[in-house]
Amino acid sequence: MTDIAPPRVAIIGVWLESNRQAPVAYEQDFKDFYQLEGAAILERSREANPSIMGEAAAFVKTMDATGPWEPVPILLAGCHPHGPIDGALMDKYLAICRKGLAEAGPLDAVYVANHGAMIATDRDDPDGELIALAREIAGPKARVVVTLDLHGNISERMVEQCDLIVGYRTNPHVDYVERGEEAALALRLMLAGLADPKSAFIRLPLTPASVNLLTASGPYGEMIDYGTRRRAELAGDILNVSLFGGFVFSDSEKNGVAIVVTARRDVARAQMLAREIAELGWNNHARFRKKLTPLSDAVQLALKSNRPPVIYSDSGDNPGGGGTGRTTELLSALVWAGAENVLIGSFFDPPLAKMAHEAGVGARIRACFNSHAGLPCDAPFEVDAEVVGLHHGTIVGRLGYAQGRTMHLGPSAALRIGGVTAIVISDRMQTADPMFFEMFGLDIGKAATVVVKSRGHFRSGFIPWFPPQNVYEVDTEGLTSPVLERRQWQRIPRPSYPLDEDVSWTPPEW
Ligand SMILES: [Zn+2]
Repeated sequence: MTDIAPPRVAIIGVWLESNRQAPVAYEQDFKDFYQLEGAAILERSREANPSIMGEAAAFVKTMDATGPWEPVPILLAGCHPHGPIDGALMDKYLAICRKGLAEAGPLDAVYVANHGAMIATDRDDPDGELIALAREIAGPKARVVVTLDLHGNISERMVEQCDLIVGYRTNPHVDYVERGEEAALALRLMLAGLADPKSAFIRLPLTPASVNLLTASGPYGEMIDYGTRRRAELAGDILNVSLFGGFVFSDSEKNGVAIVVTARRDVARAQMLAREIAELGWNNHARFRKKLTPLSDAVQLALKSNRPPVIYSDSGDNPGGGGTGRTTELLSALVWAGAENVLIGSFFDPPLAKMAHEAGVGARIRACFNSHAGLPCDAPFEVDAEVVGLHHGTIVGRLGYAQGRTMHLGPSAALRIGGVTAIVISDRMQTADPMFFEMFGLDIGKAATVVVKSRGHFRSGFIPWFPPQNVYEVDTEGLTSPVLERRQWQRIPRPSYPLDEDVSWTPPEW
């Protein structure tokens, strides 16, 4: 007699990318994005335009679409990129998951929806802890499947304690849905007895800034393309190839470009391919470095007429990497220089947004950007401005990384300061979608210069106006400055390129 009971699959996840120098993430910070327990996880996942991470929603929808299953939703929490998670909060999340998994009864699988670059105030591998907890409670026979951001920093424990890790493959991230689908389909294969995954893991002494981890071109993209091609050539032997560029700003012992290859059954196949990819990456390690555009050059270019429109990344202050989202270095430089026809977004400044809403459209206000400056590189900027647009801030992303996702930016305003129009929002999010400007009726196609507080994801949202040759990564100060030598590193294993020049690596002897 065959057992026809639908598979019982628990769902847990704590999604956070931690920048060690950014403020600690507390429970309210998660609640501001999402903190869901029980049935609410399924409800939110099944929405047409979910506001939770796309891979978790896609996992649920794909399980729904591919046969019967009995979901056991326990905890799904997510926070915008921040500092370390408060250690006591992580303990609380682990306790919720422990209780939920223990009370669930026999489980066939656990799905873990994490980012992978989380650190806690009191320890460095909470992602590994959560995965190990899933394995411990669900038991050795249950399948544990994990989705992670390609900026995850991978520990040995994370790989050893699960059956499969599926990482994003595109940067800018436009493949959340595909990766959630892939995780669910791979789980179906395992549950049907068609795969018994074995993984190989290599970490390189390579810790590049995220500007060197684009996937459309460059050495990281070449590693991913190679893995994809070889996986196809090895027809059916390889279940997944995930290459983690890592998140250098976590500054942890887990940092380093990581290769995780999962074979359908034969670990030797996984090891062979992991080694090939690691060698390709290491042979190219000197290319994981990039020169940024100096601020003065960016200002000069903005003042030039008869040139194609350009977009500037305020690379030092990317809220998507834990940046404060309100440094004023580029804004003040462009205003003082008298630049014309500039759109600049988006300043995370709730008091300023509130002031604009109270004043109303057409009012002139004395705007103080970043009045609550807390960092040395983080100066306030006070200037006369006209309120030219107001919005409630709930939008649905329309292009690239945020396409189809509901975002709650809170009360938002457009302020005109001479030739510069600046966007102010009340939730700390990177400007990676045209809706950040379009919600005010602003036409990106008519701007001479657009400035965004985003490191790389804006590329997919602004590609209709700005091909790669018109994109400039400007060297600005802040918590996400790609100029790594300016920062004091505490925990990254040294030597590591490009923090150190003299670095060697030899492949593992398996
Ligand atoms: Zn990422």
